[in-house]
Amino acid sequence: MKEMILLKNGEIALKGLNRASFEDKLIKNARRKLSDLGKFNIRKAQSTMYVEPTSDEQDLEEAVQRLRQVFGIAGLTRCAVVEKDFDIICKTAAEYLADQLEDSRTFKVNAKRADKSFPMKSPQICADLGGYLLKNFPHLKVDVNKPDIEVVVEIRDFGAYIHANQIVGAGGIPVGSGGKAMLLISGGIDSPVAGTMMAKRGLQIEAIHFVSPPYTSEHARQKVITLTEKMSEWCGSIRLHIVPFTEIQELIKDNCPEELFTIIMRRFMMRIAVAAAEKANCSALVTGESVGQVASQTVQAIACTDAVCTIPVLRPVIGMDKIEIVKIARYIDTFETSILPYEDCCTVFTPRHPRTRPKLEDVINAEKVLDIDALVAKATAGIEIMDIG
Ligand code: ATP
Ligand code: MG
Repeated sequence: MKEMILLKNGEIALKGLNRASFEDKLIKNARRKLSDLGKFNIRKAQSTMYVEPTSDEQDLEEAVQRLRQVFGIAGLTRCAVVEKDFDIICKTAAEYLADQLEDSRTFKVNAKRADKSFPMKSPQICADLGGYLLKNFPHLKVDVNKPDIEVVVEIRDFGAYIHANQIVGAGGIPVGSGGKAMLLISGGIDSPVAGTMMAKRGLQIEAIHFVSPPYTSEHARQKVITLTEKMSEWCGSIRLHIVPFTEIQELIKDNCPEELFTIIMRRFMMRIAVAAAEKANCSALVTGESVGQVASQTVQAIACTDAVCTIPVLRPVIGMDKIEIVKIARYIDTFETSILPYEDCCTVFTPRHPRTRPKLEDVINAEKVLDIDALVAKATAGIEIMDIG
């Protein structure tokens, strides 16, 4: 008996003419994820992909765990592949799924006959295999509506595939099928979630992080590198841009009204992020902003930061509350790192009374004392780049 992994590719199946390019991206991303687990052959057929190990020693369970982190896969399952002989199919189903059948109270058989030359029709396969399993597992009862286990037999060109209860995959569409975006990543909870959500929509992610030494520490910087590594488990490799931001923050603090400090600082972050994005061929920015969460995340403040952006700013968590965001952060395993207590540059020099409804005109006037273009150019030139994951 051979074993392999079946992938259901969900949303991609709805794509029209460019479906093949989505599938190729998915295969490439899956291959990359499995690269150190030995060679796998990956084949596609309709809405399913077959991931086949080339030797018996390969760790299929680890492969399944890795593939759960690949966007574009709606569901996945290990399966046994045998020749298209009904007796062998029955025996294999009983052996291969023995543990799961023992643990279930109810079951049903679902047969799919893609190879129409197979002599039994699907309803007959269901009835006869169902009967065989009932005989071998007398505790089982048939439940066609909500069975504990659904035994699936697919009769295909290459053989018969036997599997049960598929695991839910990461969903979404393959990373890289929708272009690139630049994520403004802080050490907080929200931005890694935001970046991963956009990766799930097919965007390849680059990231940009602002540091203000000596106000922010090496620990804070390292934390962002760790977060980016964790994100790369889902997003694929991420190019991280680290921007020296101390000088700009000090100039704003010394020359602009205190209550506008945060909004002016954020406008600089956005301008530098846009410049870096354009250089890196990213067509959008991504932030972890959520309306109302802090003073700088009011609709009026967002209007002021958007005003300096010449590319779209995507804010996937904009309407989510903290509990919803934390749930995703735990799922993608960034939460524990995000809550480590290090300073972010946004929390140095925070005004006592930040303006929550800044007027764009006031902000523009207050910024005029600074040589904006020169500061942006200097910060952009000082960016350090590293490839992560
Ligand atoms: P997060 O949990 O993502 O830190 P937050 O709720 O703490 O978000 P802010 O600190 O106001 O909110 O930041 C809002 C957004 O600005 C972040 O989600 C992130 O996209 C961006 N941001 C904040 N600090 C930085 C930084 N040091 N470098 C890059 N981007 C940042
Ligand atoms: Mg933050």
